[in-house]
Amino acid sequence: MPEKTDRFVAELGSVFTTSPGDLLVARADRSGWAAPSVPLGVVRATEVEHVRSTLRLATELRVPVVPRGAGTGLAGGAAGSAGEVVLDLSGMNRILEIAPEDELAVVEPGVINTNLDDALAPHGLWFAPDPASKAISTVGGNIATNAGGLLCAKYGVTRESVLALAVVLADGRLIRTGHRTVKGVTGYDLTALFVGSEGTLGVIVEATVRALPRPAPAAATVVGLFGSVREAASASAAITAARLRPALCELIDAAALRRVADYLAASGADSPRFGSANTDARFAADLLGEGEPGASLIVQFDDADASARAARVVELVRGVGGTARVSSDRQEVESLLELRRAFHPALVAGGEVLIEDVSVPRSRLADMFDEIVRIENEYGVSIPTVAHAADGNLHPNFVYDGTEVPDVIWRAADDLFTTAIRLGGTLTGEHGVGVLKRRWLRDELGDDAYDLQRRIKGVFDPLGILNRGKVFG
Ligand SMILES: Cc1cc2nc3c(=O)[nH]c(=O)nc-3n(C[C@H](O)[C@H](O)[C@H](O)COP(=O)(O)OP(=O)(O)OC[C@H]3O[C@@H](n4cnc5c(N)ncnc54)[C@H](O)[C@@H]3O)c2cc1C
Repeated sequence: MPEKTDRFVAELGSVFTTSPGDLLVARADRSGWAAPSVPLGVVRATEVEHVRSTLRLATELRVPVVPRGAGTGLAGGAAGSAGEVVLDLSGMNRILEIAPEDELAVVEPGVINTNLDDALAPHGLWFAPDPASKAISTVGGNIATNAGGLLCAKYGVTRESVLALAVVLADGRLIRTGHRTVKGVTGYDLTALFVGSEGTLGVIVEATVRALPRPAPAAATVVGLFGSVREAASASAAITAARLRPALCELIDAAALRRVADYLAASGADSPRFGSANTDARFAADLLGEGEPGASLIVQFDDADASARAARVVELVRGVGGTARVSSDRQEVESLLELRRAFHPALVAGGEVLIEDVSVPRSRLADMFDEIVRIENEYGVSIPTVAHAADGNLHPNFVYDGTEVPDVIWRAADDLFTTAIRLGGTLTGEHGVGVLKRRWLRDELGDDAYDLQRRIKGVFDPLGILNRGKVFG
Protein backbone atom coordinates (compact mmCIF):
# COMPACT_ATOMS: atom_id res chain seq x y z
CA MET A 1 0.00 0.00 0.00
CA PRO A 2 2.77 2.50 -0.68
CA GLU A 3 0.46 4.93 -2.50
CA LYS A 4 -1.81 5.17 0.59
CA THR A 5 1.21 5.73 2.81
CA ASP A 6 2.41 8.47 0.42
CA ARG A 7 -0.94 10.22 0.60
CA PHE A 8 -0.83 10.25 4.45
CA VAL A 9 2.74 11.58 4.39
CA ALA A 10 1.75 14.27 1.88
CA GLU A 11 -1.26 15.30 3.97
CA LEU A 12 0.23 15.10 7.47
CA GLY A 13 4.00 15.34 7.05
CA SER A 14 6.03 14.25 10.07
CA VAL A 15 2.85 13.79 12.16
CA PHE A 16 2.47 10.49 10.24
CA THR A 17 5.09 7.88 11.11
CA THR A 18 5.92 4.42 9.82
CA SER A 19 8.90 3.84 12.11
CA PRO A 20 9.05 0.10 12.91
CA GLY A 21 9.22 0.77 16.66
CA ASP A 22 6.06 2.91 16.58
CA LEU A 23 4.21 0.34 14.45
CA LEU A 24 5.14 -2.45 16.85
CA VAL A 25 3.85 -0.56 19.88
CA ALA A 26 0.63 0.40 18.03
CA ARG A 27 -0.35 -3.21 17.30
CA ALA A 28 -1.00 -4.01 20.98
CA ASP A 29 -2.51 -2.63 24.16
CA ARG A 30 -2.12 -4.00 27.71
CA SER A 31 -4.59 -6.89 27.27
CA GLY A 32 -1.94 -9.38 26.16
CA TRP A 33 -3.58 -9.47 22.71
CA ALA A 34 -1.67 -8.12 19.72
CA ALA A 35 -2.79 -7.79 16.11
CA PRO A 36 -1.22 -10.45 13.86
CA SER A 37 0.60 -7.77 11.83
CA VAL A 38 1.58 -4.14 12.24
CA PRO A 39 -0.56 -1.22 11.02
CA LEU A 40 0.11 0.92 7.95
CA GLY A 41 1.20 3.91 10.03
CA VAL A 42 0.61 5.98 13.14
CA VAL A 43 -0.68 9.55 13.23
CA ARG A 44 0.68 11.43 16.25
CA ALA A 45 -2.03 14.08 16.49
CA THR A 46 -1.32 17.23 18.48
CA GLU A 47 -4.28 19.28 17.25
CA VAL A 48 -7.85 18.80 16.09
CA GLU A 49 -6.93 19.55 12.46
CA HIS A 50 -4.63 16.48 12.43
CA VAL A 51 -7.58 14.32 13.46
CA ARG A 52 -9.90 15.87 10.88
CA SER A 53 -7.36 15.51 8.06
CA THR A 54 -6.68 11.89 9.02
CA LEU A 55 -10.35 10.97 8.90
CA ARG A 56 -11.09 12.88 5.71
CA LEU A 57 -8.25 11.07 3.95
CA ALA A 58 -9.11 7.73 5.54
CA THR A 59 -12.65 8.08 4.22
CA GLU A 60 -11.42 8.96 0.73
CA LEU A 61 -8.97 6.03 0.68
CA ARG A 62 -11.22 3.66 2.67
CA VAL A 63 -8.49 3.11 5.26
CA PRO A 64 -9.69 1.94 8.72
CA VAL A 65 -8.59 4.14 11.64
CA VAL A 66 -7.94 2.99 15.22
CA PRO A 67 -8.19 5.77 17.84
CA ARG A 68 -5.69 5.35 20.65
CA GLY A 69 -5.02 7.09 23.95
CA ALA A 70 -2.28 5.67 26.17
CA GLY A 71 -2.81 2.06 25.00
CA THR A 72 -3.49 0.77 28.54
CA GLY A 73 -6.78 -0.85 27.48
CA LEU A 74 -7.47 -4.46 28.41
CA ALA A 75 -9.71 -5.51 25.52
CA GLY A 76 -7.54 -5.04 22.42
CA GLY A 77 -9.54 -1.94 21.37
CA ALA A 78 -6.58 0.38 20.65
CA ALA A 79 -4.51 -2.16 18.69
CA GLY A 80 -4.01 -1.49 14.98
CA SER A 81 -3.62 -4.19 12.34
CA ALA A 82 -2.49 -4.53 8.70
CA GLY A 83 -3.86 -1.81 6.41
CA GLU A 84 -5.05 0.36 9.33
CA VAL A 85 -3.88 3.73 10.60
CA VAL A 86 -3.56 4.18 14.36
CA LEU A 87 -4.59 7.67 15.47
CA ASP A 88 -2.57 8.40 18.61
CA LEU A 89 -4.21 11.15 20.68
CA SER A 90 -1.79 11.11 23.62
CA GLY A 91 -0.07 14.25 22.29
CA MET A 92 -3.30 16.27 22.56
CA ASN A 93 -2.71 16.70 26.26
CA ARG A 94 -3.58 20.26 27.21
CA ILE A 95 -5.92 21.21 30.03
CA LEU A 96 -7.82 23.99 28.24
CA GLU A 97 -9.82 25.40 31.13
CA ILE A 98 -10.60 24.93 34.80
CA ALA A 99 -13.78 26.71 35.86
CA PRO A 100 -14.08 26.33 39.66
CA GLU A 101 -17.24 28.45 39.76
CA ASP A 102 -18.96 25.98 37.40
CA GLU A 103 -17.18 22.93 38.87
CA LEU A 104 -15.92 21.74 35.49
CA ALA A 105 -12.81 21.41 33.37
CA VAL A 106 -12.29 21.33 29.61
CA VAL A 107 -9.50 19.06 28.40
CA GLU A 108 -7.98 17.56 25.31
CA PRO A 109 -8.35 13.76 25.10
CA GLY A 110 -4.71 12.87 25.78
CA VAL A 111 -4.55 14.43 29.26
CA ILE A 112 -3.49 11.79 31.78
CA ASN A 113 -6.22 11.26 34.40
CA THR A 114 -3.90 11.97 37.36
CA ASN A 115 -2.61 15.18 35.74
CA LEU A 116 -6.15 16.52 35.52
CA ASP A 117 -6.78 15.54 39.11
CA ASP A 118 -3.56 17.25 40.26
CA ALA A 119 -4.53 20.42 38.40
CA LEU A 120 -7.95 20.44 40.09
CA ALA A 121 -6.62 19.86 43.62
CA PRO A 122 -5.55 23.47 44.38
CA HIS A 123 -9.17 24.49 43.69
CA GLY A 124 -10.46 21.91 46.20
CA LEU A 125 -11.85 19.95 43.25
CA TRP A 126 -11.49 16.36 42.11
CA PHE A 127 -11.87 14.28 38.92
CA ALA A 128 -13.84 11.34 40.26
CA PRO A 129 -13.13 8.55 37.70
CA ASP A 130 -10.35 6.57 39.34
CA PRO A 131 -9.27 3.52 37.32
CA ALA A 132 -6.30 1.76 38.90
CA SER A 133 -4.51 2.96 35.74
CA LYS A 134 -5.22 6.63 36.46
CA ALA A 135 -1.50 7.51 36.47
CA ILE A 136 -1.01 6.07 32.98
CA SER A 137 -4.33 6.31 31.10
CA THR A 138 -5.88 9.27 29.27
CA VAL A 139 -9.16 11.04 29.96
CA GLY A 140 -10.17 10.36 26.32
CA GLY A 141 -9.50 6.64 26.81
CA ASN A 142 -11.38 6.68 30.13
CA ILE A 143 -14.39 8.23 28.37
CA ALA A 144 -14.19 5.91 25.36
CA THR A 145 -14.21 2.87 27.70
CA ASN A 146 -16.48 4.39 30.39
CA ALA A 147 -13.76 3.42 32.86
CA GLY A 148 -14.55 2.45 36.42
CA GLY A 149 -12.32 2.08 39.43
CA LEU A 150 -12.17 1.61 43.17
CA LEU A 151 -14.54 4.41 44.17
CA CYS A 152 -17.39 3.77 41.72
CA ALA A 153 -19.94 2.43 44.19
CA LYS A 154 -20.15 5.85 45.80
CA TYR A 155 -18.88 8.27 43.13
CA GLY A 156 -19.99 6.60 39.91
CA VAL A 157 -18.26 5.55 36.67
CA THR A 158 -16.80 7.93 34.05
CA ARG A 159 -20.19 8.48 32.39
CA GLU A 160 -21.35 10.42 35.48
CA SER A 161 -18.46 12.89 35.02
CA VAL A 162 -18.89 13.83 31.35
CA LEU A 163 -20.94 16.91 30.47
CA ALA A 164 -20.03 17.62 26.84
CA LEU A 165 -17.77 16.41 24.05
CA ALA A 166 -16.26 17.58 20.79
CA VAL A 167 -16.07 14.63 18.41
CA VAL A 168 -14.62 14.19 14.93
CA LEU A 169 -16.85 11.86 12.90
CA ALA A 170 -15.60 9.19 10.52
CA ASP A 171 -15.74 11.56 7.52
CA GLY A 172 -13.84 14.35 9.31
CA ARG A 173 -16.78 16.54 10.38
CA LEU A 174 -16.54 18.03 13.88
CA ILE A 175 -19.61 17.98 16.12
CA ARG A 176 -20.28 19.16 19.66
CA THR A 177 -22.56 17.28 22.04
CA GLY A 178 -23.90 17.94 25.53
CA HIS A 179 -23.86 21.07 27.66
CA ARG A 180 -21.73 23.14 29.97
CA THR A 181 -24.74 23.35 32.25
CA VAL A 182 -25.62 20.89 34.99
CA LYS A 183 -28.91 20.18 33.23
CA GLY A 184 -29.63 19.97 29.50
CA VAL A 185 -32.07 17.75 27.63
CA THR A 186 -32.24 19.16 24.11
CA GLY A 187 -32.18 16.31 21.63
CA TYR A 188 -30.91 12.78 22.09
CA ASP A 189 -28.10 12.33 24.62
CA LEU A 190 -25.27 11.79 22.15
CA THR A 191 -22.70 12.50 24.87
CA ALA A 192 -23.82 9.39 26.72
CA LEU A 193 -23.77 7.41 23.46
CA PHE A 194 -20.12 8.30 22.84
CA VAL A 195 -19.15 7.38 26.41
CA GLY A 196 -18.10 3.74 26.31
CA SER A 197 -18.31 3.52 22.49
CA GLU A 198 -14.67 2.33 22.31
CA GLY A 199 -13.68 4.51 19.36
CA THR A 200 -16.29 2.96 17.05
CA LEU A 201 -18.55 6.02 16.59
CA GLY A 202 -16.21 9.03 16.55
CA VAL A 203 -12.93 10.41 17.87
CA ILE A 204 -13.20 12.46 21.07
CA VAL A 205 -11.04 15.57 20.65
CA GLU A 206 -12.25 17.59 23.64
CA ALA A 207 -14.17 16.82 26.83
CA THR A 208 -15.98 19.02 29.32
CA VAL A 209 -15.94 17.08 32.57
CA ARG A 210 -17.40 17.56 36.02
CA ALA A 211 -15.08 18.48 38.86
CA LEU A 212 -16.51 17.42 42.21
CA PRO A 213 -15.63 18.87 45.61
CA ARG A 214 -12.64 16.85 46.85
CA PRO A 215 -13.83 14.18 49.30
CA ALA A 216 -12.34 14.08 52.78
CA PRO A 217 -9.53 11.54 53.26
CA ALA A 218 -10.84 8.14 54.35
CA ALA A 219 -11.68 8.41 58.03
CA ALA A 220 -12.25 4.74 58.86
CA THR A 221 -11.19 1.49 57.27
CA VAL A 222 -12.45 -1.98 58.16
CA VAL A 223 -10.38 -5.08 57.49
CA GLY A 224 -12.46 -8.23 57.34
CA LEU A 225 -11.14 -11.81 57.16
CA PHE A 226 -13.29 -14.76 56.23
CA GLY A 227 -13.10 -18.54 56.17
CA SER A 228 -14.52 -18.60 52.65
CA VAL A 229 -14.94 -16.22 49.75
CA ARG A 230 -18.70 -16.82 49.90
CA GLU A 231 -18.73 -15.31 53.43
CA ALA A 232 -16.81 -12.27 52.20
CA ALA A 233 -19.19 -11.80 49.27
CA SER A 234 -22.18 -12.20 51.62
CA ALA A 235 -20.72 -9.54 53.93
CA SER A 236 -20.36 -7.17 50.97
CA ALA A 237 -23.98 -7.80 49.95
CA ALA A 238 -25.06 -7.15 53.57
CA ILE A 239 -23.16 -3.83 53.57
CA THR A 240 -24.99 -2.78 50.40
CA ALA A 241 -28.33 -3.90 51.78
CA ALA A 242 -27.69 -1.90 54.99
CA ARG A 243 -27.25 1.26 52.81
CA LEU A 244 -23.85 1.99 54.32
CA ARG A 245 -22.40 3.30 51.01
CA PRO A 246 -18.67 2.81 51.53
CA ALA A 247 -16.31 4.84 49.33
CA LEU A 248 -14.37 1.66 48.64
CA CYS A 249 -15.12 -2.03 49.19
CA GLU A 250 -12.49 -4.38 47.75
CA LEU A 251 -12.55 -8.15 48.03
CA ILE A 252 -9.39 -10.23 47.59
CA ASP A 253 -9.74 -14.00 47.47
CA ALA A 254 -7.26 -16.45 49.03
CA ALA A 255 -5.45 -17.30 45.79
CA ALA A 256 -4.99 -13.61 45.00
CA LEU A 257 -3.86 -12.78 48.54
CA ARG A 258 -1.33 -15.62 48.49
CA ARG A 259 0.13 -14.41 45.18
CA VAL A 260 0.37 -10.83 46.42
CA ALA A 261 2.01 -11.90 49.70
CA ASP A 262 4.58 -14.05 47.88
CA TYR A 263 5.26 -11.30 45.37
CA LEU A 264 5.77 -8.61 48.01
CA ALA A 265 8.00 -10.89 50.07
CA ALA A 266 10.12 -11.67 46.99
CA SER A 267 10.28 -8.05 45.82
CA GLY A 268 12.24 -7.07 48.97
CA ALA A 269 12.73 -3.77 50.77
CA ASP A 270 14.67 -2.19 47.94
CA SER A 271 11.98 -2.67 45.35
CA PRO A 272 11.50 0.62 43.49
CA ARG A 273 7.83 -0.20 42.86
CA PHE A 274 7.08 -1.09 46.47
CA GLY A 275 9.22 1.07 48.70
CA SER A 276 7.42 -0.33 51.72
CA ALA A 277 7.63 -3.93 50.54
CA ASN A 278 8.78 -5.27 53.90
CA THR A 279 5.94 -3.62 55.74
CA ASP A 280 3.47 -4.73 53.12
CA ALA A 281 4.82 -8.27 52.99
CA ARG A 282 4.66 -8.51 56.80
CA PHE A 283 1.19 -7.11 56.67
CA ALA A 284 0.12 -9.62 54.04
CA ALA A 285 1.63 -12.43 56.12
CA ASP A 286 -0.31 -11.16 59.17
CA LEU A 287 -3.47 -11.16 57.13
CA LEU A 288 -2.83 -14.68 55.97
CA GLY A 289 -1.98 -15.75 59.54
CA GLU A 290 -1.17 -19.34 60.29
CA GLY A 291 -3.99 -20.76 58.24
CA GLU A 292 -5.32 -19.82 54.83
CA PRO A 293 -8.13 -17.29 55.03
CA GLY A 294 -10.76 -17.73 52.34
CA ALA A 295 -10.81 -14.03 51.52
CA SER A 296 -10.38 -10.52 52.84
CA LEU A 297 -12.49 -7.40 52.48
CA ILE A 298 -11.25 -3.82 52.73
CA VAL A 299 -14.06 -1.35 53.40
CA GLN A 300 -13.43 2.39 53.60
CA PHE A 301 -15.60 5.37 54.58
CA ASP A 302 -14.93 9.06 54.02
CA ASP A 303 -18.14 10.46 55.57
CA ALA A 304 -18.46 12.56 58.73
CA ASP A 305 -19.97 9.56 60.55
CA ALA A 306 -17.34 7.13 59.20
CA SER A 307 -16.69 5.54 62.62
CA ALA A 308 -20.33 4.65 63.18
CA ARG A 309 -20.61 3.16 59.67
CA ALA A 310 -17.39 1.20 60.17
CA ALA A 311 -18.66 -0.19 63.49
CA ARG A 312 -21.80 -1.38 61.73
CA VAL A 313 -19.66 -3.13 59.08
CA VAL A 314 -17.76 -4.96 61.84
CA GLU A 315 -21.10 -6.27 63.16
CA LEU A 316 -22.20 -7.36 59.69
CA VAL A 317 -18.89 -9.15 59.03
CA ARG A 318 -19.17 -11.01 62.34
CA GLY A 319 -22.77 -11.82 61.48
CA VAL A 320 -21.68 -13.85 58.46
CA GLY A 321 -18.93 -15.64 60.41
CA GLY A 322 -15.91 -13.44 59.60
CA THR A 323 -13.57 -11.45 61.85
CA ALA A 324 -13.13 -7.71 61.47
CA ARG A 325 -11.46 -4.72 63.02
CA VAL A 326 -11.40 -1.01 62.35
CA SER A 327 -8.10 0.59 61.47
CA SER A 328 -7.41 4.30 61.58
CA ASP A 329 -3.63 3.84 61.33
CA ARG A 330 -2.66 5.56 58.07
CA GLN A 331 0.36 3.32 57.47
CA GLU A 332 -1.70 0.19 57.94
CA VAL A 333 -4.43 1.49 55.65
CA GLU A 334 -1.87 2.43 52.98
CA SER A 335 -0.34 -1.06 53.25
CA LEU A 336 -3.77 -2.57 52.76
CA LEU A 337 -4.39 -0.57 49.60
CA GLU A 338 -0.88 -1.36 48.40
CA LEU A 339 -1.79 -5.03 48.72
CA ARG A 340 -4.73 -4.46 46.44
CA ARG A 341 -2.69 -2.40 43.96
CA ALA A 342 0.04 -5.07 43.96
CA PHE A 343 -2.38 -7.62 42.58
CA HIS A 344 -1.77 -6.91 38.89
CA PRO A 345 2.06 -6.77 39.11
CA ALA A 346 1.99 -9.91 41.28
CA LEU A 347 0.13 -11.83 38.58
CA VAL A 348 2.27 -10.49 35.75
CA ALA A 349 5.35 -11.67 37.67
CA GLY A 350 3.94 -15.22 37.43
CA GLY A 351 3.36 -15.39 33.65
CA GLU A 352 1.01 -13.98 31.01
CA VAL A 353 -2.35 -12.85 32.39
CA LEU A 354 -5.82 -12.73 30.90
CA ILE A 355 -7.61 -10.21 33.12
CA GLU A 356 -11.36 -10.73 33.14
CA ASP A 357 -13.99 -8.27 34.19
CA VAL A 358 -17.48 -9.69 34.72
CA SER A 359 -20.13 -7.92 36.79
CA VAL A 360 -23.18 -9.34 38.53
CA PRO A 361 -25.99 -7.78 40.57
CA ARG A 362 -24.50 -7.20 44.01
CA SER A 363 -26.88 -9.67 45.63
CA ARG A 364 -25.47 -12.42 43.32
CA LEU A 365 -21.80 -11.86 44.16
CA ALA A 366 -21.58 -14.92 46.43
CA ASP A 367 -23.24 -17.08 43.73
CA MET A 368 -20.69 -15.87 41.16
CA PHE A 369 -17.83 -16.82 43.47
CA ASP A 370 -19.38 -20.31 43.86
CA GLU A 371 -19.44 -20.54 40.08
CA ILE A 372 -15.77 -19.51 39.85
CA VAL A 373 -14.88 -22.41 42.16
CA ARG A 374 -16.94 -24.72 39.93
CA ILE A 375 -15.16 -23.42 36.80
CA GLU A 376 -11.74 -23.86 38.47
CA ASN A 377 -12.58 -27.49 39.24
CA GLU A 378 -14.20 -28.25 35.90
CA TYR A 379 -11.35 -26.90 33.75
CA GLY A 380 -8.45 -27.59 36.14
CA VAL A 381 -7.33 -23.93 36.23
CA SER A 382 -6.65 -21.54 39.10
CA ILE A 383 -8.55 -18.24 38.91
CA PRO A 384 -7.22 -15.74 41.48
CA THR A 385 -9.92 -13.09 41.80
CA VAL A 386 -10.30 -9.58 43.19
CA ALA A 387 -13.56 -7.67 43.15
CA HIS A 388 -14.82 -4.14 43.45
CA ALA A 389 -17.33 -5.85 45.69
CA ALA A 390 -19.71 -2.96 46.29
CA ASP A 391 -20.18 -2.73 42.47
CA GLY A 392 -20.54 -6.49 41.96
CA ASN A 393 -17.57 -6.19 39.56
CA LEU A 394 -15.15 -9.12 39.64
CA HIS A 395 -11.71 -9.44 38.06
CA PRO A 396 -11.13 -13.20 37.76
CA ASN A 397 -7.67 -13.73 36.29
CA PHE A 398 -6.11 -16.51 34.28
CA VAL A 399 -2.33 -16.85 34.39
CA TYR A 400 -0.66 -18.91 31.64
CA ASP A 401 2.70 -19.53 29.99
CA GLY A 402 3.53 -18.75 26.36
CA THR A 403 2.25 -16.05 24.02
CA GLU A 404 -1.13 -17.56 23.07
CA VAL A 405 -4.05 -17.91 25.49
CA PRO A 406 -4.44 -21.71 25.79
CA ASP A 407 -7.69 -23.18 24.55
CA VAL A 408 -8.66 -24.51 28.00
CA ILE A 409 -8.49 -20.96 29.36
CA TRP A 410 -10.74 -19.64 26.60
CA ARG A 411 -13.22 -22.42 27.38
CA ALA A 412 -13.13 -21.56 31.09
CA ALA A 413 -13.52 -17.84 30.23
CA ASP A 414 -16.45 -18.67 27.94
CA ASP A 415 -18.13 -20.48 30.84
CA LEU A 416 -17.36 -17.50 33.11
CA PHE A 417 -19.01 -14.97 30.76
CA THR A 418 -22.03 -17.16 30.09
CA THR A 419 -22.47 -17.69 33.82
CA ALA A 420 -22.23 -13.96 34.63
CA ILE A 421 -24.89 -13.22 32.01
CA ARG A 422 -27.10 -16.02 33.35
CA LEU A 423 -26.87 -14.50 36.85
CA GLY A 424 -28.24 -11.23 35.45
CA GLY A 425 -24.82 -9.65 34.99
CA THR A 426 -22.56 -8.56 32.17
CA LEU A 427 -19.42 -9.85 30.48
CA THR A 428 -17.60 -6.57 31.04
CA GLY A 429 -18.04 -4.14 33.90
CA GLU A 430 -15.35 -1.65 32.91
CA HIS A 431 -12.78 -2.88 30.40
CA GLY A 432 -15.01 -2.96 27.31
CA VAL A 433 -15.60 -5.41 24.48
CA GLY A 434 -12.79 -4.51 22.06
CA VAL A 435 -11.54 -7.58 20.22
CA LEU A 436 -11.50 -10.02 23.08
CA LYS A 437 -15.21 -10.14 23.99
CA ARG A 438 -16.96 -9.44 20.72
CA ARG A 439 -17.96 -13.06 20.20
CA TRP A 440 -20.15 -12.91 23.36
CA LEU A 441 -21.78 -9.54 22.64
CA ARG A 442 -24.85 -10.90 20.88
CA ASP A 443 -25.37 -13.44 23.72
CA GLU A 444 -25.71 -10.61 26.21
CA LEU A 445 -27.59 -8.06 24.09
CA GLY A 446 -29.98 -10.42 22.34
CA ASP A 447 -30.60 -10.38 18.57
CA ASP A 448 -32.80 -7.28 18.37
CA ALA A 449 -30.65 -5.01 20.56
CA TYR A 450 -27.50 -6.30 18.82
CA ASP A 451 -28.90 -5.49 15.38
CA LEU A 452 -30.07 -2.06 16.56
CA GLN A 453 -26.60 -1.30 17.89
CA ARG A 454 -25.02 -2.36 14.60
CA ARG A 455 -27.39 -0.01 12.78
CA ILE A 456 -26.40 2.85 15.11
CA LYS A 457 -22.77 2.14 14.21
CA GLY A 458 -23.79 2.28 10.53
CA VAL A 459 -25.44 5.70 10.97
CA PHE A 460 -22.26 7.21 12.45
CA ASP A 461 -19.79 5.33 10.31
CA PRO A 462 -21.42 3.92 7.15
CA LEU A 463 -18.10 2.94 5.54
CA GLY A 464 -16.76 1.17 8.65
CA ILE A 465 -13.73 3.45 9.01
CA LEU A 466 -13.61 3.68 12.81
CA ASN A 467 -12.20 0.77 14.79
CA ARG A 468 -13.32 -1.78 12.21
CA GLY A 469 -13.88 -5.23 13.69
CA LYS A 470 -13.85 -3.97 17.27
CA VAL A 471 -16.89 -4.53 19.51
CA PHE A 472 -18.86 -5.99 16.56
CA GLY A 473 -17.12 -8.91 14.88
C1 LIG B 1 -2.57 -1.85 35.47
C2 LIG B 1 -3.90 -1.50 34.83
C3 LIG B 1 -4.99 -1.21 35.65
C4 LIG B 1 -6.22 -0.90 35.09
N1 LIG B 1 -7.26 -0.60 35.92
C5 LIG B 1 -8.45 -0.25 35.41
C6 LIG B 1 -9.55 0.07 36.26
O1 LIG B 1 -9.44 0.06 37.49
N2 LIG B 1 -10.73 0.40 35.69
C7 LIG B 1 -10.89 0.44 34.33
O2 LIG B 1 -11.99 0.77 33.86
N3 LIG B 1 -9.87 0.13 33.50
C8 LIG B 1 -8.66 -0.21 33.99
N4 LIG B 1 -7.62 -0.52 33.16
C9 LIG B 1 -7.84 -0.50 31.70
C10 LIG B 1 -7.50 0.85 30.99
O3 LIG B 1 -6.52 1.57 31.71
C11 LIG B 1 -8.75 1.69 30.80
O4 LIG B 1 -9.62 1.04 29.90
C12 LIG B 1 -8.48 3.11 30.28
O5 LIG B 1 -9.68 3.85 30.32
C13 LIG B 1 -7.89 3.13 28.87
O6 LIG B 1 -7.35 4.43 28.64
P1 LIG B 1 -6.23 4.63 27.51
O7 LIG B 1 -5.94 6.08 27.42
O8 LIG B 1 -5.06 3.75 27.79
O9 LIG B 1 -7.02 4.14 26.22
P2 LIG B 1 -6.56 3.11 25.09
O10 LIG B 1 -6.18 1.81 25.68
O11 LIG B 1 -5.58 3.77 24.20
O12 LIG B 1 -7.93 2.94 24.28
C14 LIG B 1 -9.02 2.25 24.86
C15 LIG B 1 -10.21 2.30 23.89
O13 LIG B 1 -10.68 3.63 23.75
C16 LIG B 1 -10.59 4.09 22.40
N5 LIG B 1 -10.12 5.49 22.48
C17 LIG B 1 -9.04 5.95 23.16
N6 LIG B 1 -8.99 7.29 23.06
C18 LIG B 1 -10.05 7.68 22.32
C19 LIG B 1 -10.55 8.95 21.87
N7 LIG B 1 -9.95 10.10 22.19
N8 LIG B 1 -11.66 8.96 21.10
C20 LIG B 1 -12.30 7.82 20.78
N9 LIG B 1 -11.87 6.60 21.18
C21 LIG B 1 -10.76 6.54 21.95
C22 LIG B 1 -9.64 3.12 21.73
O14 LIG B 1 -9.95 2.98 20.35
C23 LIG B 1 -9.90 1.84 22.50
O15 LIG B 1 -11.03 1.19 21.96
C24 LIG B 1 -6.38 -0.86 33.68
C25 LIG B 1 -5.28 -1.14 32.85
C26 LIG B 1 -4.05 -1.47 33.42
C27 LIG B 1 -2.90 -1.75 32.51
